[in-house]
Amino acid sequence: MALNSESAGKLTHVMADFEIKDLRVSVEGREILKGVSLAVNKGEVHAVMGPNGSGKSTLSHTLMGHPNYKVVGGQVLFKGKDILTLPTEERAKLGMFLALQYPVVVPGITMSNFLRTAINAKRGFDGKDKSKAISVKEFRALLKNEMSVLRMDDSFLSRYVNEGFSGGEKKRAEILQMAVLKPEMAILDETDSGLDIDSIKFVSDAVNKMRGPELGVLIITHYTRVLKFIKPDYVHVLVNGEFVRSGGPELADWLEAKGYSEWVKEPAKAPAALEAK
Ligand code: ADP
Ligand code: MG
Repeated sequence: MALNSESAGKLTHVMADFEIKDLRVSVEGREILKGVSLAVNKGEVHAVMGPNGSGKSTLSHTLMGHPNYKVVGGQVLFKGKDILTLPTEERAKLGMFLALQYPVVVPGITMSNFLRTAINAKRGFDGKDKSKAISVKEFRALLKNEMSVLRMDDSFLSRYVNEGFSGGEKKRAEILQMAVLKPEMAILDETDSGLDIDSIKFVSDAVNKMRGPELGVLIITHYTRVLKFIKPDYVHVLVNGEFVRSGGPELADWLEAKGYSEWVKEPAKAPAALEAK
């Protein structure tokens, strides 16, 4: 319904730092996102909330260029480019970052190697010009600082990426990547799900520390809980691949009380049961 997405878009001004315009995406021949528009400026935190299956992860994967998600219409503008035409690594180099809902295991690659390679790739180090690579000293200092905020100990660095990590450790590892890569547009896809309350606090502390005029954040979540720790400036409700409502942080409080029942009949499941899947 064009009306809904248009009214969501009107909340923000004409040329925002990051603009999703009438984005339509299909997965395996089925249209999942049906015309999504959203404008995020640096310095702002936008929450995208919605019931399971509404298309939240489809949005996050499409923004980062996952090949399974076929863009059938619309644009995503960032730094004067339609990033939808760029490969994932070019989007990352431009300053985009996605914390995955389901982080993947990378056997044989240690966290330390992975993070250093990611940082160097972003700096444009091609394996030759050593002046572009991060120094050992700088790398250590950067990690030490960020890992203490996330309450991660040094042993993480010698473990293979996500291998044997608990749910909370995986999500903290995602945020550690964000902290060291220092993106300008970060998308956090259900970083809060599966986290115990302590981990939510550590992750939120780390994200709040990164907030500032140089960073725009899209925080995707099913539950309002994390928004008590990371206060959003705007909240958007995604149902069935369309934004049905946008507002300020009070919209999250309203959802806390009412749930998504206005738009969908949700199965009566305890949050813990949903999060465990
Ligand atoms: P959410 O993250 O809001 O729970 P998703 O974006 O994961 O929702 O899913 C939206 C819809 O798209 C669901 O019906 C889901 O089954 C479908 N979908 C998402 N990804 C895939 C995929 N890779 N293959 C098939 N269907 C998919
Ligand atoms: Mg999802």
